Amino acid sequence: ALVAMSVFAAVVLGIAVYIARRGPTTSDDIAAGMRKGEFIPYYQPVINISNGRLEGCEVLVRRRRRDGSIEVPAAFIAQAEIDGQIVPMTRQLMHSVINDVGELYARRPQLTVAFNLCAQHFRDDEIVRDVDEIFSGSPIRPSQLVFEVTERFPLADFTKAKTIIARLQALGAKVALDDAGTGHSGLAALHRLGMDIVKIDKLFIDPIDASTTQAPIVDSLVALAKSFGMAMVAEGVETLDQVNYLRAKGVDQAQGYLFAPPLPAASFAALVAAMIPL
Ligand code: C2E
Ligand code: CA
Ligand code: CA
Ligand code: CA
Repeated sequence: ALVAMSVFAAVVLGIAVYIARRGPTTSDDIAAGMRKGEFIPYYQPVINISNGRLEGCEVLVRRRRRDGSIEVPAAFIAQAEIDGQIVPMTRQLMHSVINDVGELYARRPQLTVAFNLCAQHFRDDEIVRDVDEIFSGSPIRPSQLVFEVTERFPLADFTKAKTIIARLQALGAKVALDDAGTGHSGLAALHRLGMDIVKIDKLFIDPIDASTTQAPIVDSLVALAKSFGMAMVAEGVETLDQVNYLRAKGVDQAQGYLFAPPLPAASFAALVAAMIPL
């Protein structure tokens, strides 16, 4: 019995090790996926909740494999951020966005498109050169760009981050504080980075329902954002009760499954054309 058990244990352990090895995407696998053009933008609409208008989108990366399967960022983004491949991946996404929606956006200058940045993008000023090179002379104007920087971003080199943010803004882009409320930095410290927009994390939107009269974190983020003159976007909005609460608080925009999930390019393009006819 003991032998049988240890064989069993060895098999279980073997499987566990196999899954652990195979599970997370490796650097080589990401590099191969990039060569094959497997990382593509999906587009989640951003809606103005006081008038219901479509005002832009957030680009959320997906991996589309040859067999047609779609992988979400949880499967690969951490590795890409650790090994720095997120920088060329973001570049690829920017080119794809221009191909997908450049013409639609050129004719609707009020629309914005937001890209997620991470700590790797703040190591040097490559991101500023990338944005300048890729978008100058493209149908998407710099004034239509938003860059989202997560609050979990280590502010080790505060001065450098501040300079890069200022240079992105000098190109005409806006910068948003992503996942607001989840970090420890405090909005006041982040305001000193010169951010334009606060994106309230889904975590704080989730518990809001019809009976909610106050949501302390949302309420204090809103108060701070207002006092700094920053615009606000709520993320992960799934119910009308949440929209009503946020609208009453003066939150400008929302995105979430209530309106639309992240959409493939063709679906987003169709939505733009339908909601903003020329
Ligand atoms: P995030 O920036 O906080 O993006 C919001 C996430 O919430 C997205 O997950 C989106 O699909 C999901 N979401 C939006 N509305 C709802 C809703 O109403 N209900 C629910 N349940 N979920 C909603 P996704 O696409 O899986 O992305 C996860 C994270 O991966 C993002 O979180 C972002 O941090 C990262 N990410 C995605 N694309 C990129 C990228 O191109 N570059 C970088 N650096 N990070 C990215
Ligand atoms: Ca984001
Ligand atoms: Ca150019
Ligand atoms: Ca978030």
